[in-house]
Amino acid sequence: MAEQGVRPAPPSAPVKAKKRPKELAVVNQAGCTGCEVCIEFCPVDCILTVPGPEYDQHKKLVEIDLDICIGCKLCVKYCPWDTIEMIPSAESLKKASGWTQRSVLPGAEWIQNAPGIEIVREGPLPLPGTKKS
Ligand code: SF4
Ligand code: SF4
Repeated sequence: MAEQGVRPAPPSAPVKAKKRPKELAVVNQAGCTGCEVCIEFCPVDCILTVPGPEYDQHKKLVEIDLDICIGCKLCVKYCPWDTIEMIPSAESLKKASGWTQRSVLPGAEWIQNAPGIEIVREGPLPLPGTKKS
């Protein structure tokens, strides 16, 4: 019997798993000029500036927090250098880990724990539209 005057705690709301977009945006930093145009268009502010691999203070690059990206494609549409691609969500972290030198992505636990995802660091980054030799 419930104690008088003590209100029972409400049932906790069911926790819904966050639904992932089919595709997420990934920056190929080899082609990024750091112009920050994409940042202006991102509706959820998930594009971040990061130091470049050289001249940290002067050459900035951007990368995308895949935990927040909603896959709207606006950054892809407006990047003047065509260096952002939409990648299937399950492959996006692997692709991003190869295309970025400095990453906020290790916080993306949802995909780190996904089967078959291996974090890789590729060598020199290929320029967008070019094939590796
Ligand atoms: S718009 Fe393109 S080139 Fe400019 S910062 Fe964004 S990803 Fe880099
Ligand atoms: S796809 Fe949309 S939400 Fe994702 S980084 Fe680009 S502009 Fe932002």
